[in-house]
Amino acid sequence: MAKFNTAIKGTADVLPENSCKWQFVERKLLDTARLFGFEEIRVPVFEHTEVFTKNVGETTDVVQKEMYTFQDKGDRSITLRPEFTAGVVRSVIEHGLVHGALPVKACYVGGCYRYEKPQAGRMREFHQFGAEMFGAADPAADAEMILFADSVLKSVGVNNISLEINSIGCPECRGKYHEALKAYFASRKDELCDTCKDRLERNPMRILDCKSPVCKEIADKAPVMLDYLCDECSEHFEGVKEHLNAVGLSFTVNPKIVRGLDYYTKTVFEFVSGDIGAQSTVLGGGRYDGLVDQMGGPKMPSLGFAMGLERLIMVLESQGAEFPEPQKPDIYIGTMGKAAKLKSTEICTMLRNEGFIAVTDVTGRSVKAQMKYADKIGAVFSTVIGDDEINNGKCVLKNMLTGEQKELGLGSELMSALYDAQISKALDAITDSTEGLEKLLG
Ligand code: ATP
Ligand code: MG
Repeated sequence: MAKFNTAIKGTADVLPENSCKWQFVERKLLDTARLFGFEEIRVPVFEHTEVFTKNVGETTDVVQKEMYTFQDKGDRSITLRPEFTAGVVRSVIEHGLVHGALPVKACYVGGCYRYEKPQAGRMREFHQFGAEMFGAADPAADAEMILFADSVLKSVGVNNISLEINSIGCPECRGKYHEALKAYFASRKDELCDTCKDRLERNPMRILDCKSPVCKEIADKAPVMLDYLCDECSEHFEGVKEHLNAVGLSFTVNPKIVRGLDYYTKTVFEFVSGDIGAQSTVLGGGRYDGLVDQMGGPKMPSLGFAMGLERLIMVLESQGAEFPEPQKPDIYIGTMGKAAKLKSTEICTMLRNEGFIAVTDVTGRSVKAQMKYADKIGAVFSTVIGDDEINNGKCVLKNMLTGEQKELGLGSELMSALYDAQISKALDAITDSTEGLEKLLG
């Protein structure tokens, strides 16, 4: 195939047969968000480049290496969002939400763009679900975000995922830590990768996030931020842990978590899965008390998290999770002749208005070919109408699974047969779930 007829490296198509997985996941995420009092915010896919360079951090991998940046025809520098937070902060300041009822709680879902080396769980176009809370300084807010993230993962059926938390302090206590870190890494400078040699001068904490095995090993013995927290940050971290313990959410404190973006302060956290290989962080987040202020808004303690939907779906697939099947057509109506085509369109419209999935022939092919198609698309019932059926006002409805056939009137009788089928399907589902429940209860 010609190169231009294939999807760009690092992007993926979601085909109709798979989109139900995505719809299921997105529906669950937004439903869970609502339970926590979050409503969706939609921001543009692209922003002025400075929204990201100035706020995500000049020394981060995202800004240094991964952004899709271009000049538009008006000679502006534009960047496709590599993440949502900066754009969401821009939006809530621009529209004055930060001066309204606080905290502001907003969630989002959509595509992100990073020029990375594509591999399993690492794409150039990927999708995030995330949430932000503006105007809440209390550790209860950190705990609520973590609990929200946990509920989101549970709502789609993820098992076996661990929560790791850390505190990376505030600009005050981090100053001293940076010095200690710099001194430690300087003593092993020769062994660091070239990028980390550069990071040593510009932002030594980035080295803790390096993916190179040698740097990782060196970082293992580096001083940890937790030993340098000021009283306020330390108390805050204790408060977060206390809240998590109170609801019985288990976690480990991992002093290695620093997160890849510059704006974080105090609490940072990740949900990590052992089921999807090297790109194991499904969800990451934390507090960013300085960002709103830095972006021109008021001083406003805030926090958020983001998770990768590709990685989430990979976890679910590797755990053999069940996704809802795409809904099959309730009926396929085959036609013979022009009058039948018109009649079928009329019947389909009536059925669709009642919420049934009704499909009819739009190709003009033979009845045999039409029925083959009905079978392929998994229609629950089929019928064929021609001049006789129109004249009698009756058709033969065939159950595609059992082969059972029944003669019915083309109007209300047909409709009630479809209703009956739906009701018995719903009753079966209830029986299934009560049987499941009874088994569960022994
Ligand atoms: P990583 O350390 O894996 O590069 P990150 O720290 O760059 O992740 P964040 O910016 O925190 O990731 O993004 C939050 C989540 O978005 C990640 O935990 C991951 O699930 C997902 N994600 C990030 N980059 C990619 C990517 N290139 N492809 C797929 N998912 C991604
Ligand atoms: Mg990354």
